[in-house]
Amino acid sequence: MFETVIGLEVHVQLNTKTKLFCSCPTSFGAPQNSNTCPTCLALPGALPVVNKEAAIKAMRLGYAINAVVNHSSNFDRKSYFYPDSPMAYQITQLHKAIVQKGELFIDLPDGTQKRIGMTQAHLEADAGKNMHEGNHSKVDLNRAGTPLLEIVSEPDMRSAEEAVAYLKKLHATVRYLGISDANMQEGSFRCDVNVSIRPKGQEAFGTRVEIKNINSFKFVSAAIAYEVQRQSEAYEDGIYTQEVHQETRLWSVEEGVTKSMRGKEEAADYRYFPDPDLRPLVVTPEMIEEAQQMPELPDAKVKRYVEELGIKKVDALIITSDKEMASYFEEMIAQGAVAKTAVTWLISELLGRLNKASLTIETTPIDAKTLGRLVSKISDDSISGKGAKEILDHMMEHESRDIDALIDELGLAQVSDDGAILAIIDGILEANPQKVAEYQAGKEKLFGFFVGQTMKASKGTANPAKVNTLLKQRLS
Ligand code: ADP
Ligand code: MG
Ligand code: ZN
Repeated sequence: MFETVIGLEVHVQLNTKTKLFCSCPTSFGAPQNSNTCPTCLALPGALPVVNKEAAIKAMRLGYAINAVVNHSSNFDRKSYFYPDSPMAYQITQLHKAIVQKGELFIDLPDGTQKRIGMTQAHLEADAGKNMHEGNHSKVDLNRAGTPLLEIVSEPDMRSAEEAVAYLKKLHATVRYLGISDANMQEGSFRCDVNVSIRPKGQEAFGTRVEIKNINSFKFVSAAIAYEVQRQSEAYEDGIYTQEVHQETRLWSVEEGVTKSMRGKEEAADYRYFPDPDLRPLVVTPEMIEEAQQMPELPDAKVKRYVEELGIKKVDALIITSDKEMASYFEEMIAQGAVAKTAVTWLISELLGRLNKASLTIETTPIDAKTLGRLVSKISDDSISGKGAKEILDHMMEHESRDIDALIDELGLAQVSDDGAILAIIDGILEANPQKVAEYQAGKEKLFGFFVGQTMKASKGTANPAKVNTLLKQRLS
């Protein structure tokens, strides 16, 4: 009956060495107010100078999302006062942002992609931090002036799933580009979610509500679900115009609801005007060249994995969703692991074990080289899959990463030599003449018995495929 409409604003903290308009370091954890200077403290007479590295990183995102990268863009002042913002305005880009009109493709569960339009990505300065302790508050301006890239999407998403898919794709993209740590918990990747509803078939958009304070993908879904229900109920009860205003609401993690924070200011309330202290940001050919140095991005990787490595698209999507995981996978291949086998061992075996141990691909005790070598040992028949699992379990608990030594130590070398396997098979057949006769009389079920006996006699080291072939030969 209703259609959900979502547009997202994401603030990405750029990982530059210095702030956007001064040379103060952006390092985290310095003593309070030590990473400051007259410019970021907004002392009279101090003049801002644009950070080239921040501009290049913004441009790099622009090229990655097929956007227009403006060779000249402008800074504006957005006026508002808050104790953590000593200038009494924020320097941002309203009228002509450095990046405009891009696109990002999200992957839908049915295997297709949907295009999400990107309105713009603009540079702006972050605020400091207010800290409330008992009955007083402190202000730390270390973060004031840190570069942010605000990335604004078109209202093109139609469900919470699409919104989360967009955020994950954007998150992966900025991580691949190396322009931000994009850590949601630490606030270097923050999103504001704009939600409205409209009766199916209606063209005009409904009133949008902006939700802030959402710091995980899970809460993005929950906040959208709550807001859609609240707005739909108001509509059905005939009180939509009274209940749904263009406003900013906060997501409450404890209560699982959104709460009105403040009426959403109209642009006019901010008294935007061009910053008279800053000249246009003009990009040079060298900056363009540097910004265009692009790593292989998720979509291109998926295509290559599917077309050249022959792995399934669902698997390629899982692996490329995270830059570390993709590098891990590629290192396994470089060690001689067969792609399809590497996928199984990475996704099912390794991730499964990491999950159980509350570890991640970043904190894995088993590096990609080691797992790659282990997997290549399965492919060349040096060990069985079962033996490899034993080694993997062992390595989760122990230090040694010498695969060959572990194979010996744990007695897992796989026997693939025909002669050695035949010797065992002949022993089994001789010891069970009755069963051999029954099998040859047509009781084919017994084949499993012979396989089992042979494997047992070899203490699990005989190559199962070889055992099958050789047994068939001997019994026929
Ligand atoms: P503001 O700074 O006031 O939040 P922006 O223009 O920066 O405004 O961002 C507006 C965001 O709201 C964009 O992401 C846009 O896609 C989204 N949006 C606009 N209209 C709607 C709507 N009717 N429903 C949902 N989202 C919307
Ligand atoms: Mg905005
Ligand atoms: Zn400074």
